[in-house]
Amino acid sequence: MSVCTVCPNNCKVDRDAKAGGCGVTNQIKLAKYALHFYEEPVISGENGSGAVFFSGCSLNCAFCQNYELSHKARGKEFSIDGLITIFKELEEMGANNINLVNPTHYSLQIVKALDKYRPNIPIVWNTHGYETLQNLSIIDPYVDIYLPDLKYYTPSRARRYTKKENYFERAKDAISFMLNAKKPVMENGLLKRGVIVRHLVLPENTDDSIKILEFLRPIIGDNYLSIMSQYTPFGSIENLKELNRKITRREYQKVVDKALSLGFENLFLQDFTSSGEEFIPDWDY
Ligand code: SF4
Repeated sequence: MSVCTVCPNNCKVDRDAKAGGCGVTNQIKLAKYALHFYEEPVISGENGSGAVFFSGCSLNCAFCQNYELSHKARGKEFSIDGLITIFKELEEMGANNINLVNPTHYSLQIVKALDKYRPNIPIVWNTHGYETLQNLSIIDPYVDIYLPDLKYYTPSRARRYTKKENYFERAKDAISFMLNAKKPVMENGLLKRGVIVRHLVLPENTDDSIKILEFLRPIIGDNYLSIMSQYTPFGSIENLKELNRKITRREYQKVVDKALSLGFENLFLQDFTSSGEEFIPDWDY
């Protein structure tokens, strides 16, 4: 970690000394851990998913719904042992899994924690998809379920919203790796192992969405696709006029219809009323 290359930003900074592009040093920071009921039903189930919301982000989408966390690195510092205590607490609360939300920039710290203590419930890697294959090969033995986003297809969209033109290039390799690594295993209506690829439909972006579906269809196998409608204007979008509204029913339906016509079988769709700031968690730290 003295030359950080954990994610495709490849900052090569010494995170013992200063923060990298993800906005955080090697010190683990998080803003909340709790049972979370708004993931896909096979993740949340009735008991909830044991979500740990990490501070900082290596992608930093302009419209991030967790803006204070990702862009401003809001949160409280925890040691490796402190993180282990959180895992144990969530298990005791009855969580169906440990859901590591935006964990990439803390990969090595999380591996250290999981080397010391392995929860008896599945580990979920809930990522923006902007990952390196090198990092995935390190964390893969510790992960049971991948929950990656696949956000943008065209380099111009990715540049406009994240300043990272190579988003799709990196995310397509990462998601191909994940789909190869984890075939789905379901028990009593809960996913124990596998991949759910998430795609958030954005206003005036359905062409990008359709290209993403066309990329995924031949490689998704028996794993899952989740098409999300919950976009809510938020974050730093003053200069991104198209993002100043929610998506329309027509936009969402166009993407869903395409998925159905392509023959996706294991598909999660979202209630169209699932957008709104009330779905953004209250941060504890
Ligand atoms: S994890 Fe952070 S410091 Fe490391 S390469 Fe990615 S953005 Fe840079």
